[in-house]
Amino acid sequence: MSISIGKLHQALTVEARHRYPNIQGQTARFADFVCEQLAILRLTLAPNPSIRAKLSQLSDGFAEYEALTPPERATLVDGMLSMLPYLSGPRAEMGMTAPMGVLSPADSARMAEQARTAQLARETPAPYAKQPTAPKQSTAPKPKVPKVDGKGLDQAVQFVKGVGPRMAETLAKLGILTVRDLLHHFPRKHLYYDNRTLIRDLKAGDEVSIWGAIRKVEAFNPPRKPNMCIMSVTVSDGTGSVTARWFQGKANRFQMDQFKKRYPVGWRVLMSGVVRFDEFQGRKFFDRPEAEVLGESGEEESDSLHLGRIVPVYPLTEGLHLKGLRNAIHAALEAFGALITDPLPQAFLKRNQLMGRREAIQAYHFPTSREDEKRAKQRLVFDEFFWLQLGLAYRRAQMRKNSESIAIPAKGELTEKLLDVLPFKLTGAQARVFDEIRRDLAASEPMNRLVQGDVGSGKTVVALLSLLVAVENGYQGALMAPTEILAEQHYKKFVEWLTPLGIPCALLLGKQGKRERNQYLKAIAAGYTPIAVGTHALIQEGVEFQNLGLVVIDEQHRFGVKQRAELRSKGRHPEVLTMTATPIPRTLALSMHGDLDVSVIDELPPGRKPIQTSWVTGKGRKGAWELVRRELGIGRQAYIVFPLIDKSEELENVRAATEEAEILQHKVFPEYRVGLLHGQMPADEKEAMIEAFRKHELDILVATTVIEVGVDVPNASVMVIENAERFGLSQLHQLRGRVGRGADQSYCILVTSSTSETTKQRMEVMVATNDGFVIAEQDLKLRGPGEFLGTRQSGLPDFVLADLTEDTHALEEARKAAFELMTADPDLAQHPQVKAELYRHFQSNLGFLGIG
Ligand code: ADP
Ligand code: MG
Repeated sequence: MSISIGKLHQALTVEARHRYPNIQGQTARFADFVCEQLAILRLTLAPNPSIRAKLSQLSDGFAEYEALTPPERATLVDGMLSMLPYLSGPRAEMGMTAPMGVLSPADSARMAEQARTAQLARETPAPYAKQPTAPKQSTAPKPKVPKVDGKGLDQAVQFVKGVGPRMAETLAKLGILTVRDLLHHFPRKHLYYDNRTLIRDLKAGDEVSIWGAIRKVEAFNPPRKPNMCIMSVTVSDGTGSVTARWFQGKANRFQMDQFKKRYPVGWRVLMSGVVRFDEFQGRKFFDRPEAEVLGESGEEESDSLHLGRIVPVYPLTEGLHLKGLRNAIHAALEAFGALITDPLPQAFLKRNQLMGRREAIQAYHFPTSREDEKRAKQRLVFDEFFWLQLGLAYRRAQMRKNSESIAIPAKGELTEKLLDVLPFKLTGAQARVFDEIRRDLAASEPMNRLVQGDVGSGKTVVALLSLLVAVENGYQGALMAPTEILAEQHYKKFVEWLTPLGIPCALLLGKQGKRERNQYLKAIAAGYTPIAVGTHALIQEGVEFQNLGLVVIDEQHRFGVKQRAELRSKGRHPEVLTMTATPIPRTLALSMHGDLDVSVIDELPPGRKPIQTSWVTGKGRKGAWELVRRELGIGRQAYIVFPLIDKSEELENVRAATEEAEILQHKVFPEYRVGLLHGQMPADEKEAMIEAFRKHELDILVATTVIEVGVDVPNASVMVIENAERFGLSQLHQLRGRVGRGADQSYCILVTSSTSETTKQRMEVMVATNDGFVIAEQDLKLRGPGEFLGTRQSGLPDFVLADLTEDTHALEEARKAAFELMTADPDLAQHPQVKAELYRHFQSNLGFLGIG
């Protein structure tokens, strides 16, 4: 199979012309064909990393094409079309090579042109003159009549004055390929060089900036404090001189040389920071200022962008210099700024008190005042949230419109019976959430609900009640869990609770023998078992339901979109209910699942005592063992958790379960029975181990994080977590949730080998609260969204300027505005510009398409 850009282009345009049916070609369906082509492209073309990244995004999108709505498909097809020019001849100067012997240069040039025109057609703005946002106070260059040759913001960044082939190549490393990309490369921060002071006038306590020539640079480890390095730069501006000082831990020769190289004597430098008085030396100095080296003397003329004003500082990459980038962005604004349009209507901006988009982009790059910068940022942050929320609102509206759904009104026959046989009464929160689910099920619109509930809040019984509503209506129900341990746990509970009702239940696991599996499969296909529990095995080939009406997905974040879609496809239009025990702060939840309804089980079953948590360092381990011994002495059981399975050489200070289990058994607790559980054990051994612990044939279970979900042994009352600093807070909380499942007091002891400030802060959060939501908020604050979520595939779109921990209010506002707009104009028929922008936005946020 060979690659043909020509065929690809043809396929894309044909698909678009037919309005995205995933058209059947001669040999394959459209999406499969594109996927195949993309796979080959990625292998053979090996273009630069940012193109490769875009291709890989696209191919993720096409892999799920079948599951997408038509507008989402349109976005993908557009996205692919706009990439074609990069995949062939015309831009070879950017370090990309054309696939040999596939396409003549003339061909590819023509196609590149077509793709660009297609793009242009979508984005050609209304006449610029009519734009009411002529920047008044922004110092950004007044847009001249654009000198562009009709190719808009999507032409190669090389068309910007001052951007040569080499710089274009470097910019490509940052994913900046077009003029638009460059204009959207926003400052990481600003330096306030607008408050320039002459050195002669410096006063201690002032926060000011100065500029002048570098006179002297020093870096040394002072003899009396050898563990410290002092670095200093002395600057003079003709009115006096002042020394700037920084400190860091001990530095080696190389680091000191690096520092000196950064500040060449004789060059001009800008510094901004606080002036202090050194009592000891009787002199003023600059305390750790921001500094920026401008260049050699004699270039003052070109400094005007970089001096005496608020100056943007950009994310850079190797080989890209701040000054050059600043000049390029300024030139881009000057030549192309007028092409920036605002898809949001004037009235809307006014209502939401927002700056125009062009004005905001210009002002955020080169603000005239701090107020200007603030307002500009406000608009840009609004946009980051708004388009996402609008996308979510749009998708939700489309889904409501397009999907059929079965109505499953609760009858109460089975659910009432279950409530009778349960050994407990539902908590208020459980009852409320079940009620919400029942209402969704009865409605003719598809359910789209996520149940969040802290560990131990009792989600399982809510899942079962929901499944029984389906069964009452003659449908089957399925519950999918991410691990075998968890699936078996659910299955056991279900069997226990369903047996009195006379309802059979099936279990499907990957590790099952053929005979067992076949029996279950037959029973499911014949409709004999109304309820099935399982892992991924539920969605494999050969699993046929007779009449699947409801799918519950436990710990939904552990599944990919594809797997969820596959389970859904096992029925005609089954309802889907998702559950998670990992509380997500509201900002994240809105960003990731903004199109879901969320129910929260915010109450624990009665009689639970909050787990008492304490934090010790290695020295306190003895105390921990005493507590464990005391609990074991009164007949309870304990978990001891380690971050690693086996000792690793790189991680000297990290304890490993396998090794420590031996020590614990033989040296620490010889009189008790110690078992070992970790993820790499064969499934049957794992199961046997958990079973033994459950039956109290073991007193202590040494484990890794495999026990994080699913293990439910109420008699276990104490958990020790070693190297607790290595776990995320939410993960610690999940782990800790394995104890405190009975009515008696439980304990958790966190042992850390680090005593750093961060560790201290994090452990104190764990000690202070048992509330998963509070912990999640803190975790997000301390680690940031990327690390908090742990994976890129989490589907969280990139926020450049918005801060999910700070900008909660902005997010709520943007969400409100988006949903209001969508309610008023569900198809965006009256807002064609908004619609076009929305599609474009989706295109660069393909990951986002996959959520939900
Ligand atoms: P999770 O939300 O973590 O999945 P589970 O569903 O496993 O929680 O419930 C934790 C434990 O609490 C189980 O042993 C379950 O039987 C019990 N439980 C659930 N609901 C109640 C209730 N309303 N009253 C008392 N115990 C309950
Ligand atoms: Mg659960």
